[in-house]
Amino acid sequence: QYDVHIIGGGLAGSEAAWQLARRGLKVRLSEMRGSGERSPAHQTDQLAELVCSNSFRSDDDTSNAVGLLHHEMRALDSLVMAAAAKARVPAGSALAVDRDFFSAEVEAALAGLPNLTVVRERIDTLPDAGLTIVATGPLTAESLAGSIGRATGADSLAFFDAIAPIVYRDSIDMDVAWMASRWDKGAEASFEMGGDGRDYINCPMTREQYEAFHAGLMAGEKTEFKEWEANTPYFDGCMPIEVMASRGVETLRFGPMKPVGLDNPHWATEEHPNGRWPYAVVQLRQDNKLGTLWNMVGFQTKLKHAEQVRLFRTIPGLENAEFARLGGLHRNTFLNSPTLLDRQLRLKSAPHIRFAGQITGCEGYVESSAVGLIAGLMTACELAGTDWQAPPATTALGALLSHITGDAEADSYQPMNVNFGLFPPLHDVKKKARKAAYTDRAKTDLSDWKQAAAL
Ligand code: FAD
Repeated sequence: QYDVHIIGGGLAGSEAAWQLARRGLKVRLSEMRGSGERSPAHQTDQLAELVCSNSFRSDDDTSNAVGLLHHEMRALDSLVMAAAAKARVPAGSALAVDRDFFSAEVEAALAGLPNLTVVRERIDTLPDAGLTIVATGPLTAESLAGSIGRATGADSLAFFDAIAPIVYRDSIDMDVAWMASRWDKGAEASFEMGGDGRDYINCPMTREQYEAFHAGLMAGEKTEFKEWEANTPYFDGCMPIEVMASRGVETLRFGPMKPVGLDNPHWATEEHPNGRWPYAVVQLRQDNKLGTLWNMVGFQTKLKHAEQVRLFRTIPGLENAEFARLGGLHRNTFLNSPTLLDRQLRLKSAPHIRFAGQITGCEGYVESSAVGLIAGLMTACELAGTDWQAPPATTALGALLSHITGDAEADSYQPMNVNFGLFPPLHDVKKKARKAAYTDRAKTDLSDWKQAAAL
C-alpha cells in the first residue's frame, strides 16, 4: 500500500519521489527502464538519466533565470540540485555534472528512504484511482501516451514538435518594425482580448533583403534527424521554414512572409501617407500574457542554433534580437497544459492524476526537475489536507508554474525554458539593472513564501 504512485523515474519523477518520501509519505515509483524497456534516447537503466548534454546550464543566480531556478530549488532541498553539486565538473559558470555519478547519487539518496519503493515496470494505462504523478517525459511509452490521449481527448501526443524562435520584446527595434494586423482585420476580436487591433509586430524587407535571406536559409546548416525520429510525422502545419523555402524563392512570400495588407508607416510618403507594403514581412505574435515574449510566426526551423541567431539577426528590426528560445524539431510528448490542467497540475477531468516534468510543456532538465519538485510539494499538501499556496509569480518557480497552468496562450502552447520574459515586468528599472532586480525580488519573495507555507 502506498500514498502516491509516481510513474517515470526520470528527473521530475525522482525529484517528486524525494520530496514526498522524505516527508514520510509512502511512494511507489514505477520506472520502465530496467524491465527490458527503454526510450530511444535513454542509454542506461539509471534513474534520472541525462539523455543528452551534461549541463544544467548557468549557475549564476544574480542575472540568469535558470541560475535563479537552481537557487530556488536548493532552498527547497532539491535532490537533483544536491546530486548535481556532488557530481559537479568544471564548466565555468555553468553547472555541469558527471552524468553517471549524478544518476548514482540520485539513486543512492532515494534508496536511503525506507518508505519509497522503486519498481521496474512499464505502466500502460492511467490509474482509475489513487493519487498519481505522471512524469514520463517527452518520450513517454506509446501505450501510456495512448491512454493519456484518450483521457485528454487529444488525438496524438507524439509528433515532431517544430518550435519557432521566441524573441524578447524589448530587444526588437520598433523604429524599424511596427505594430499592425493584416488589412486591420480581427480588430473586434483583438479589442475583446484587450488589444488595440494592431496585434502583430511586423519586420519589413526589401526585395534585396528578402532574396539574401532566402539564400541564407537555403545555405544554412541544419540539424540532422536522429534515426528513431524518422517515422514520426510532422505536426500539422509545422513545416520547417527552410523546407518551405526549398520549394521556390517565392514560396515564403506567399506563406508566412506574405506582405499584403501591411502598410509600413515608416515608409510613408506624401503620395502614400499610410506607408507602403514591404516586399516581404516577418511577423511576430505575442506569446505570453505579459507581452514580453514574441513568437516568430511560421519560423519553426531545424537550422543549427548559431545559424538561427546569425541569420535571424539579418531581419530588419531584429538586428539586436535576443532570443528566449531558438527553434528546433524533435519528437516530443506534451500536454496542452493551460487547457487540460488546473493550477495544481491536476488533470481537470481526473484530478487524482497530476503531471510533472517535460510532459507538462516545460523544457529542459532544470525546468523538468523543478516542476517535479513542485508537483511533489502539491501532492504532500493535498495528502496533509492543507491549502496549497503557489509560489509567487515573481519567483522562477512561480513564473514557470503560472506559464504552464494558465498564463501561456493555449492555442500556440509550446515547450518553454524558464526566462525573465515569464516574470511580471519591471518596467521602471533601467535595462542594465533589470536582471539583478528580477533575481533580488524573486529571492525575497521565495523566502517569504517558504516561511509562510512552512516548507
Ligand atoms: P525523463 O527524464 O525522460 O524521465 C521520464 C522517465 O519515464 C524515463 O525514465 C522513462 O524511462 C520513464 N517512462 C516513460 N514511459 C513510461 C511508462 N509508461 N512507464 C514507466 N516509466 C516510463 N534538456 C536539457 O536541458 N538539455 C539537453 O541536452 C536535453 N536534451 C534532450 C534530448 C532529447 C532527445 C530529448 C527528447 C529531450 C532533451 N532535453 C534536454 C529535454 C528534457 O529536459 C529532458 O527530456 C528531461 O529528461 C525531461 O525530464 P522528465 O523527468 O520530464 O523526463
